[in-house]
Order: sequence, then structure tokens, then C-alpha cells
Amino acid sequence: MTEASRQKPIGIIGAMTMEVKGLIARLEEDKTREIAGLVFHQGRLDGVDCVVAKCAPGKVNSAVCAQIMILEYSPRLVINLGVAGGVGVGIGDLVVASQCVQHDFDPTPLGDPLGCLSICRGEEEESFIQLHSDKQAAEVLLEEAKTIYGGAHLGVIATGDAFVADPAKSRWLNETFGAKAVEMEGASIAQACYMNRVPFAVLRAISDNANDESPADFPAFAKECADKSAQLLAKTIARL
Ligand code: SAH
Repeated sequence: MTEASRQKPIGIIGAMTMEVKGLIARLEEDKTREIAGLVFHQGRLDGVDCVVAKCAPGKVNSAVCAQIMILEYSPRLVINLGVAGGVGVGIGDLVVASQCVQHDFDPTPLGDPLGCLSICRGEEEESFIQLHSDKQAAEVLLEEAKTIYGGAHLGVIATGDAFVADPAKSRWLNETFGAKAVEMEGASIAQACYMNRVPFAVLRAISDNANDESPADFPAFAKECADKSAQLLAKTIARL
């Protein structure tokens, strides 16, 4: 990393208050700005310049938040943290994204593959299904996760505008995309980052298994899992 890029902050986005509250409380010299109703907290976390925001659930909220953060703060890396539904991994486990996909983007009637997105590159368009997270950040997060918790996984995280609480859908996500977790913001933040050529990472703690039990498991475990992902990030930030 060059000296110039080290001076840029790390951006941190969570969808819910419980996912960012602990990190915001630990920020030194917290300066806040409100843009489009989103509150951006800029300060130092363990000596590292950071900007932290809550975006509210969903792809549009999270993409707007990431875009504003990129334009206003020029982060060198954007990390999306929080909770997710596990696909074949246990409640309380941690999943770090190797790649992100949007499972609800469906152009298949026109012959394009499921999840195949297009973005503009000037007059041209570029298509992709999966976006790769920053390899180094993902490795560091996974390594730290493994030293603290038993169940730490690297894999595809699937994003869509739906809370998944259906075992058949969860199996389909694994068979179709190789997903290990499902949530509602990771891949839209990844897309905003990719369009702006900013590296990203996604870290999620599993609050439920995206099945019939999820409506009960999510409220029971989300807070504890949100704390877990925030604590891991706080412990790891100086290495990122
Ligand atoms: N109004 C609720 C909405 C929660 S939506 C609230 O704010 O409490 C669920 C959130 O947790 C989303 O941000 C999503 O990323 C994550 N999540 C956890 N389990 C999920 C699942 N099974 N399917 C989709 N998203 C899930």
C-alpha cells in the first residue's frame, strides 16, 4: 500500500443500528455528517482512520450509502459487516465473502444467466455474475476469525431484497451460486465499489439458517451475532 492510500480511511457499512453501534461508540474524535438521511461517523478506530455508517436494510439503501461514502470520503477499502442467514453453516459462525452475487437479479427470460448484471464503462457495458472481494482483506478477516471462533468460512455470499426463511430457497442458493450465506446488502455495496474501482470486503455472523426457524432465530441471535462481527472487525482493523 502506498503512503497516499494509507492516509485514506476504511469505510464500514452495516444495515442495522445493532451492527454499527459498538464500532461508533469506540471511534475516537467522532465527526458526523448527515447526507441523504444517512449519518456518516468519521474518526479513528484502534488508530486507523475510519468512516462508519448505518444504511438500513436492502440493496438500494446500501448502494446509495456506499456511493456517497466513496464520493465524500474516498475510502481505500469498504467493509460491509453484520448478520446473515447461513446456508449450510451454523448459527454463530462467521462467513467472509470470497465473492458476492445478487440472487434476485433475473434476466433469464431474455437468455442471460441468473444474477448476470451489467454496468456502464463509458460508452461500453461490462457484465458479471460474481464480484470478487479484496483478497488480502478477506484473508486477514478469515485468519483473525479462525483464531477467535471455531466456525469461520470463506465463500460466496448471496444478496437480494428478501429475507430468506425457506429451506428450499436456501438449498437453491447453494446449488445455484455455491452460497454459504444470504443477506440483503453485500453484493449491492460490492457493485457500487466495483463501479468506482474501490476494493471491498464482506464479513457476516450467522443469525439464522434462512429456514422455517429464521423468524424466531433472527430476533433471538441477531444482537449477539452483530456484536461478534463488530468485535472481530475492531480487532482486525489495524491489519487491514
Ligand atoms: N426491520 C428489520 C429488518 C431486518 S432485515 C430490522 O431492521 O430489524 C434482515 C437483516 O439481516 C438484513 O440487513 C440482512 O442483511 C440480514 N439477514 C439476516 N438473516 C437473513 C436472511 N435469512 N435473509 C436475508 N437477510 C438476512
